Amino acid sequence: MSENTKVVENATCTFCGCVCDDMDLTVDLDEHRITKAKNACVLGRAWFAEHTVEAYPAALIDGKEATTEEAVEAAAQILVNARFPIIYGMSDTTCEAQKQAVAIANYLRANIDTTTSVCHGPSGMAFQGVGESSATLGEIKNRADLVIYWGGNPAEAHPRHFTRYGVTPKGMYIPNGKKDRTMVLVDVRETPSAPVADIFLRVKPGTDFEVLWALRALVKGRTIDSSIEEKTGIPLETLEDLVERMKSCQFGVLFFGMGLTMTRGRHFNSGALLALASDLNEFTHFVANPVRGHGNVTGADNVVSWQTGYPFGVNFNRGYPRFNPGEFTTADVLARGEADAACIIASDPASNFSRPAIEHLMKIPVITFDPKPSVTSKLAKVAFTTATYGINVPGTVYRMDDVPITLRPAFESPYPSDEDVLTAIKNRILELKAAA
Ligand code: SF4
Repeated sequence: MSENTKVVENATCTFCGCVCDDMDLTVDLDEHRITKAKNACVLGRAWFAEHTVEAYPAALIDGKEATTEEAVEAAAQILVNARFPIIYGMSDTTCEAQKQAVAIANYLRANIDTTTSVCHGPSGMAFQGVGESSATLGEIKNRADLVIYWGGNPAEAHPRHFTRYGVTPKGMYIPNGKKDRTMVLVDVRETPSAPVADIFLRVKPGTDFEVLWALRALVKGRTIDSSIEEKTGIPLETLEDLVERMKSCQFGVLFFGMGLTMTRGRHFNSGALLALASDLNEFTHFVANPVRGHGNVTGADNVVSWQTGYPFGVNFNRGYPRFNPGEFTTADVLARGEADAACIIASDPASNFSRPAIEHLMKIPVITFDPKPSVTSKLAKVAFTTATYGINVPGTVYRMDDVPITLRPAFESPYPSDEDVLTAIKNRILELKAAA
């Protein structure tokens, strides 16, 4: 190893919600890049390879280069003078930065929302309405002998979920790994995850709720009509067999993804799955865990919940937090043309929101925080270049099972962190409000 190379052991990959914390990163300190990421999956390797320090301007105002200080002043002026500012994103930044964003929303009486509102928002609503029987991924690895994935494709979206937690690893009470587990996959199509499953249930699109409710009825000893097959595509005998397996396992888990939460039924689907897990605790130990996408979207839920009582879609306009998905969720606020300024942190809504929402975003002043240009930053009035969390910035992130993990950055960036810039904007907002 050359003098200007170092290895960061047990570093964390923040690309997806697995937040694998067993990375050994080889860093070229001259070129400021990671040359090798031992233990990373194909997605993780791409994440580390693409985050080099490139020569972007520290900030842009109206497309012209500016210093970070000038951009902080411009951003604070925009936000203080707005009547209905919104703050959105935060799934790819640290909890420390998220905390500053909530403080800004509070001082401005703004709307604050995270990318949860367009992924597991329905689950967030169901957790509040139904409750949650959950476990850490470590506990699942050590104990679960029946693992059900519902509405997700971990083989492609979370490549190490199977090998680190859900299917193949040997655990304290699962000494033979996959041989000691039964893996069930429920989905509307056969994805690359299907070959890993012992049992694959292909449900008709839009009938997850019916399947879950039928399982609940069978768990409670009720009779189900065999017409369930025509409705859902799953024969009654298959459902009865699954219920037997669920009731007789030692420790079962239902992992659920966006194939369940963002299809017909939404929060009713999530609620039905959570209720099924609760029902099964009359017979055995059963838990339900969402499979989360972005590296710190779970942290965003946690931080916004600590400080407001609600996980996303929160409005401070009356001086206290109110939660109302559909009214205070960013995609809906923008599509109705309601906000007059937007602060977008570490996310790219202009690449995935509806056309009316994007068109409104193009009409109002937008402030963005990103390590590199994005579709949203290109339409921003003020665009900050910030350092990448986990690679350049220390701090805390939450794994998808709500376990906090401390980041070990690989090399320094010339750009400030999201937390530094948000803190500066918050302090300037307080000065401007005090002087008003
Ligand atoms: S599974 Fe996710 S967190 Fe783990 S290495 Fe792959 S991309 Fe990174």
